Amino acid sequence: MVANSALIKAREGGGSKGRSCKWREMLRFPHISQCMDLAAAIERDYYSLCVKQPIGKKLFQLFCWSRPDLQSYISLQDALDVFETKSDEQRKDFGTSIIQRFLTRQSNQCVSFAMKHEQSCIHNLELDPCADVFRDCREDLDKYLSGEPFTQYMESMFFDRFLQWKMVERQPITKQAFRQYRLLGKGGFGEVWACQVRATGMMYACKKLEKTHVKKRRGETMALNEKQLLEDLDSRFVVSLAYAYETKHALCMVLTMMSGGDLRYHIYNIGEPGLDKERVRFYAAEVCCGLMHLHQKSILYRDMKPENILLDDNGHIRISDLGLAVRLSEKGLVRGRVGTLGYMAPEVISNESYGMSADWWGLGCLIYEMTAGQPPLRARGEHPKASEMERRIQTEQEEYSDKFSRMVKELCCLLLTKDPKQRLGCQGSNGKEVQSHPFFRNINFRMLEAGLVDPPFKPNPRQVYCSDVQDIDEFSTVKGVVLDQTDTSFYSKFNTGSVPIAWQNEIIETGCFKELNVFNPDGSRTPDLDW
Ligand code: ADP
Ligand code: MG
Ligand code: MG
Repeated sequence: MVANSALIKAREGGGSKGRSCKWREMLRFPHISQCMDLAAAIERDYYSLCVKQPIGKKLFQLFCWSRPDLQSYISLQDALDVFETKSDEQRKDFGTSIIQRFLTRQSNQCVSFAMKHEQSCIHNLELDPCADVFRDCREDLDKYLSGEPFTQYMESMFFDRFLQWKMVERQPITKQAFRQYRLLGKGGFGEVWACQVRATGMMYACKKLEKTHVKKRRGETMALNEKQLLEDLDSRFVVSLAYAYETKHALCMVLTMMSGGDLRYHIYNIGEPGLDKERVRFYAAEVCCGLMHLHQKSILYRDMKPENILLDDNGHIRISDLGLAVRLSEKGLVRGRVGTLGYMAPEVISNESYGMSADWWGLGCLIYEMTAGQPPLRARGEHPKASEMERRIQTEQEEYSDKFSRMVKELCCLLLTKDPKQRLGCQGSNGKEVQSHPFFRNINFRMLEAGLVDPPFKPNPRQVYCSDVQDIDEFSTVKGVVLDQTDTSFYSKFNTGSVPIAWQNEIIETGCFKELNVFNPDGSRTPDLDW
């Protein structure tokens, strides 16, 4: 109880209230002379420096604002970003206003090279406001900005400031950087704790892997695999990795805080087993987007099950636990009986080579379990022997109670097709064919991907959606395991500190960027943008 109220208080505190009183010191910029090695080593890549990295993008925008001749370009970029956050109904009007402001000769904000896109953009907008109306225009804009403006930016004080931020980002991370709150859950190699970054007040979940457990069970490759896959991802439907560091006893991954609990908890621990249809539809649709994002990066997830799908405090889901995920080679196939029995696809069990099909089977299991309140081919609480479970998965037809509407039953049947070649999701257009199933007819996937659809259920901010601390078994170090030099070299691969995009987002979201990014009196002017 005490642990819960401390966590709830910290969550509510959030933002600046959760910051340590020494936060400015913790994030203090080094003198620019200390950034010279970094300046020499950094890759001069416009896309990485000014588009992908959030602080980089802000500083590049500030630079453009300081140059009257570039202001309308950056306003256009800004407007195009805002366009993507508009609902379907608002897109037409907002799109029209962009055209009138920036693409029309008479306007005083007109961007010269964009004028040639005026007619085609008007046409695109008329045809379908939800399509990628301004694509050509945006490409030209990026081409322009990545030329001279980018070169001049690299010579400016704004880029110096970027280097300073990068140096702060690259500070070594230890457990002193965090406050720890209650235990949230337990996994195979250790525990997951709620934590808060002292410097910014940001809440995260820290997944700790006990070094002795990892070693005893040869989990090194798996741990490193999970960490390396996560640091390369950036999707609203997959947990983000913000930091990776080590302590004397553990390897720690600091992940997006998902305070709404896992789907297993929601299916079984709140009222009757199962979820209502709108929640099933919404979670299934978001998981589908998450899988598509992973698949686009050639990552096969392989561990779909309710306890690995987590809810955030607004009720959106993210896929978590990438310990079993793999990056597929060119051929797109892999072997290995990997996953959680009960959720493994027939082709995985029979030890054939398989590809993304295994995840579409997994989605079928998930939709089935959310609807029925029990997993397919097995009663709740029943634990058949492995061989029996394998037999059922390969040969038995799952049963559908009257909890299944015709539509959701049809979708489950298509995803739980034994032959991967016949399965929905494996017919050549991947996730698109799943999204096109009539069950998802009233889901607007464009808006869903942009985070613009309200979840059907919002977790209660005053409730903690996981078992009591006492009910989660203790984790202790394994005796008799000695850590040596080879372990140390593996730890150093793991221990890479802050992950750039996640860290920069944290600095911006918590308001630290705005408060710290003022320029010295000699640095001409303090940009006065309202961020
Ligand atoms: P393992 O790989 O050992 O299965 P998981 O990553 O699945 O470990 O984490 C174990 C449990 O911890 C999850 O089922 C969930 O309850 C909790 N958990 C994991 N990640 C988070 C997170 N980001 N936010 C909140 N709780 C989490
Ligand atoms: Mg797990
Ligand atoms: Mg795992």
